[in-house]
Amino acid sequence: MKQSKGGTRRALVATLVVGIGASAALLPNVLQAQDADRTSEVRQAIDGRKARNVIQITADGTGDQQLTIARNYLVGAAGRLVMDTLPLTGEIATWSVQEANPALPDYDSESASGGTALATGQKTSDGRISTAAGTDTDLPTTIELARAAGLRTGNVTTAELTDATPAAQMAHVRIRTCQGPADMAACPQDLRANGGPGSIAEQSIDHDVDVMLGGGRARYVQTILSGPGAGGTVEAYAQAQGYQVVTDKAGLSAVTNPKVLGLFNSGNMTTEFGGSKATNPPSAQTCTTGLRPANEPSLAEMTTKAIRLLDRTPHDSRKGFFLQVEGALADKRDHTAEPCHAIGELKGLDEAVRVALDFAKQDGRTLVLLTADHNHSSLIVEVGSTPPGLSSILTTVDGAQMQVYYGAPETTAPGSNNQHSGGQVRVAAYGPQAANVVGVNDQTEVPAIIRRALGI
Ligand code: MG
Ligand code: ZN
Repeated sequence: MKQSKGGTRRALVATLVVGIGASAALLPNVLQAQDADRTSEVRQAIDGRKARNVIQITADGTGDQQLTIARNYLVGAAGRLVMDTLPLTGEIATWSVQEANPALPDYDSESASGGTALATGQKTSDGRISTAAGTDTDLPTTIELARAAGLRTGNVTTAELTDATPAAQMAHVRIRTCQGPADMAACPQDLRANGGPGSIAEQSIDHDVDVMLGGGRARYVQTILSGPGAGGTVEAYAQAQGYQVVTDKAGLSAVTNPKVLGLFNSGNMTTEFGGSKATNPPSAQTCTTGLRPANEPSLAEMTTKAIRLLDRTPHDSRKGFFLQVEGALADKRDHTAEPCHAIGELKGLDEAVRVALDFAKQDGRTLVLLTADHNHSSLIVEVGSTPPGLSSILTTVDGAQMQVYYGAPETTAPGSNNQHSGGQVRVAAYGPQAANVVGVNDQTEVPAIIRRALGI
């Protein structure tokens, strides 16, 4: 074992020596930046005014390991992503609570409990969508408070619009699987027929969110069984409520209606990059790009359109907008041990961060806040090592090899899903009140930061 690892290491050293020519120019720049006194730069980034708009960006299941994997691959170890340039940064703890005893923490959360914390400022148990652990009480969300205060609202994702992260802003159900009228088996108390608010899809329309863009059309073509719109599809119900429904990129470009429901895939949207699942023993692979079909908008394109529709120009009102943007699929492809797909999604998310940041810099009154709902368990390990479980070896833009290891399958069954992990995640921000992200915070403080900034 050790001998074969030594052999691999010698081969790696040779590769690195060859690769140094390409990356040598990058490294001194980073060291120079670190040498400069940044006191006045940081002081300038602190802005205590109220914000007109907030763009909350969620990188689903993206901790520091996953960000570093994407950075190494896309821009090199000494490079910086757009999201790395957000000037003020901190960490948030992401634990949830136990359903049977909400006084006890659950140290490994997921997108429903994490999304609930980020949308409501309250801890809940895993699987719940903006309802309280134990009591099932509805927890008010930032989208609800923003709308009640007269702000425009938007919700954009690469997952299904009814998936946990977007759902937590615009629905209250017992369990995240209750996405469409036909998916309600686990949530009898939430059925409209039983006096509940209905599925996540029905509730998203009832929440009157101005701009909703993502995947999940299969949930919206299900038939409403009871209450308003019964007998028709959720999509028809949306149209009756004044929504323009669009299903492709050209349709989205043409939208002028201020209320729009964009459903660009029957399920999750298509990933940007393709590649193979990790293997044991590890093998090298080359990622493919350009996987997303031309009729599906990118996350950056959806974000651009959402901002255009939500922003009031000229700024004749102090009331702006609250927009949530989720890059969802890096998480899903970490579960399936597919590093290329995950990296491509973080590239797509980074381009959406650029859109948000460019708008905020021009606008001057927009807080951009980026964080993750929870961490994941992919790790950068020594190239050539053969740990138990799946690994994949990628060649980064540096020209060096990087081994990504999936060390936390849920069970020993072959192909078992790689789990989340419970470590704290980054929060970073730009704009009015961005300073409130600095330090070590709890996830439930994020809605307070956003609501205080908006004065809602
Ligand atoms: Mg999500
Ligand atoms: Zn996940």
